[in-house]
Formats: sequence, structure tokens, C-alpha cells
Amino acid sequence: GAPVLLHLILARSVTYIVPPVVLLLGPSGGGKTALQTVYERGGTAPPPPTRTSQAAQSVELNASTDAAARTTHRNHDESDGTYTKFLLVDTPGHGKLRNTALGKLRRADKLRAVVFVVDAAALGEPEALGPAAQYLYDVLLVLQKRKSAAAAPGKEGSAGVPVLVAANKMDLFTALPAAMVRAALETEITRIRASRSKGLLDSGVGADDLGAEEHDGWLGEYGSEKFTFDQMQEFDIDVDVLPGTVTAEEPDVDKWWWWIAQRI
Ligand code: GDP
Repeated sequence: GAPVLLHLILARSVTYIVPPVVLLLGPSGGGKTALQTVYERGGTAPPPPTRTSQAAQSVELNASTDAAARTTHRNHDESDGTYTKFLLVDTPGHGKLRNTALGKLRRADKLRAVVFVVDAAALGEPEALGPAAQYLYDVLLVLQKRKSAAAAPGKEGSAGVPVLVAANKMDLFTALPAAMVRAALETEITRIRASRSKGLLDSGVGADDLGAEEHDGWLGEYGSEKFTFDQMQEFDIDVDVLPGTVTAEEPDVDKWWWWIAQRI
């Protein structure tokens, strides 16, 4: 009857108004908050210093899907043609709060993409590369498990969540180019994976004899010697590394924006 119908309509409109979510993750100091601010303000205003708030902070943005607006897509207002509304959610990168961020990653509904922001100028230093790679390893493993769980029999499958590694601070002369950011992270994740999975491979048990549980704990192609981001494609997870700059007078954040706009 009518109440049922009304309920259905309400339920549908509620689903409809929840916008797709893009999560900003990464070690603190990478530039997440600055990036969120630049997108929110639409460009050039100097961003405020990093928030000390421990809560995730969301801003609602509109990405134009007009081809003509490709180069100027920032935050479009609702009146200018075709756009897609999405939530860009900043998370605290601080070590102690990382579990909160990872929890969000595990549970987030309508999660369309992850933007993992790193300071490309610091990644040449082992003290910065280690923790950044560790965090990214955790993020990728959560996404891999999310995908595997969704693919399990009886569950309705869901698409994998793509990851953009935003190699930020390209204005600094110590910044590694994007290809080197990629290589450095892959090498370090290879090392982390080997130490995390110690015993799994050299137990003498062949890959075929291992249960699903062991496989689940291994990031990427099972048993492979070297980790590459391409291995995540097996789990429907595309990883791209793109360069950019947030805080220069002319921020260079369009490549990332365009990447996001394609995925929401
Ligand atoms: P978060 O901890 O990841 O949110 O990082 P913040 O957004 O707070 O940025 C950390 C610091 O890096 C701040 O002092 C920013 O001004 C600075 N920063 C962010 N983006 C850039 C950039 O592209 N170039 C340079 N040189 N500094 C940046």
C-alpha cells in the first residue's frame, strides 16, 4: 500500500543523496589538508596550516564531467552544466590515528577512490620512505581484502577501489620525479611484504597447499619476488602515480582532479 510505496521512495532518495566518496590518505605532512583546501576554494588561495583536529573532515565538491571543462575543473558550482557531486574526505595521517583512517577505508560506503598523498621531496630519505610505504602497504592490503571479501561466493561483487599516489611538492628541488616515487615505493613495499610474510613462503609449503587465509595476508601476486603496483590489477585495483604541487602560487593539481573526476 501507500506507506510501503512512500517508504520505498524515501529509501531510494536517501540512497541517491549520499554522494560518492574519495578518501585522502597518507602520512602527515604530505599535503592532504592543503590539497583539500585548494580544491574547495577553487585554486589559488594560500591554504591554512595543517589541522590539529583528530576527526576526518569532509568537503562536498562538484566535478564537471564536461570534456570542455577539463582544464578548469576545480570545484564547479551547481549551475554550470554537468557535474558530479562527491565528498573529499581528509583523514588524520598521524601514526596514532592511522587506525581510524584505515577503519574508514574498511567501512566506507560508496568509496570510489583513494588519493594517497606523499611528500615527493622527502621520499629520498629512508626515514620518510619507510613510514610512507608502510602506510601504503596497509592501505593496499585493506583494499585487496575488501575486494576479496566482496568477491566471495554469496556476496555481491563490488568493483575494486582505484588508488592515486599523489606525488606532491614537485616545486621543491629535492622532489623525486613520479617514476622514481613509484619505484621507491614498490621497492620498499617489496621489503615490507617479505618481512611481514616471513615464514609463509619459506615454510616449504607450496602455494597450492596454502589455505585462503595465508593468501589473503599476501599483498599482490602471491609468492612473487618483487612487488609492483600492477599486481594489484588482479584485485581490480588500479594504482597510478602522478606528480603535482599544492602550495605554489599557481598550484598544479589538475592532473589529480582529472583522475578523480574520471572515477566518481
Ligand atoms: P597533511 O598533514 O597531509 O594534511 O599536510 P598539510 O596539508 O598540513 O601540509 C603539510 C605542509 O606541507 C604544510 O606546511 C604545507 O604548506 C606544505 N605543503 C603542502 N603542499 C606543498 C607543496 O606542493 N609544496 C610545498 N613546498 N609545500 C607544500
